[in-house]
Amino acid sequence: MDRTNETYFADVVSNELLTPHMRRIVFAVDGWTSSGIADEWVRLFFPSPGGEDAALPVSQGKGWSFPDGVPREGRWYSVRAIDGARLTIDIVVHESGVAAAWAATAEPGSRIAITGPDGRYGADVAVDWELIAADMTGLPAALRILAELPAGRRAIAVLEVQDAADEQPVNSAADVEVRWLHNPQHGHAPSLLPAAIRDLRWLDGSPYVWMSAEAAATRDIRSFARRDKKVPNGCAHVVGYWSMRRNTAR
Ligand SMILES: Cc1cc2nc3c(=O)[nH]c(=O)nc-3n(C[C@H](O)[C@H](O)[C@H](O)COP(=O)(O)OP(=O)(O)OC[C@H]3O[C@@H](n4cnc5c(N)ncnc54)[C@H](O)[C@@H]3O)c2cc1C
Repeated sequence: MDRTNETYFADVVSNELLTPHMRRIVFAVDGWTSSGIADEWVRLFFPSPGGEDAALPVSQGKGWSFPDGVPREGRWYSVRAIDGARLTIDIVVHESGVAAAWAATAEPGSRIAITGPDGRYGADVAVDWELIAADMTGLPAALRILAELPAGRRAIAVLEVQDAADEQPVNSAADVEVRWLHNPQHGHAPSLLPAAIRDLRWLDGSPYVWMSAEAAATRDIRSFARRDKKVPNGCAHVVGYWSMRRNTAR
């Protein structure tokens, strides 16, 4: 169930560089509960450029308003982990953007607003194996999905990071074959994921395909999965998490 009309204050507990191009921020969020969906995401609302304090937004259908009338920028982020009232979010380090700039300077005690969760991971029908593919923006959700796969499940993970130092441990009880791709131009050149996925030897049986990455890469693989591999809609969640050509803030 989409619970993104719920809003909460989120206070930074810690902020560290997890890998050279990924920041890990742990928030304390009273009352927030997980949807239980492995790729669940929330919207974070950052302080306005004028420096106004965090305020809880009010959902207005497709948009949000704030009680003091001052707009705040919002961006979507995956929930990497939940531990009681502590919520972990991993944010890609990149050159420009409200979220990236806020993450670079947020300190313990910094306050923002977040929404309740929404998520889509999961096939409509039983499948034989899973293809989990992500660039750095989809990596937090991909690693959580892989961590939550049951023993006996077969999966191939194709994960694109900027360089080897951005790789993270893949913990899973499942039988996962992991392929790391290194793209030193991540954010400035097309993703390496489409070519790698097209070259992949797919496993036998029916797959579930989950992919989150740059919009052009996901458009390519959405079409490849549906047209070439005949993956039914209910067995594919292939979504652009950002666009190299423009600001995708929603
Ligand atoms: C459901 C969902 C879940 C997501 N989960 C995560 C997550 O867990 N971690 C995460 O880091 N991101 C995640 N994203 C992507 C994140 O919301 C976008 O990258 C967002 O645009 C970043 O906002 P910004 O303010 O930093 O940059 P923006 O103001 O949106 O963009 C400014 C400029 O930066 C470029 N840009 C945006 N993102 C990147 C990037 N990652 N690398 C290089 N250039 C970029 C844009 O093309 C634009 O030119 C998720 C997106 C969705 C839709």
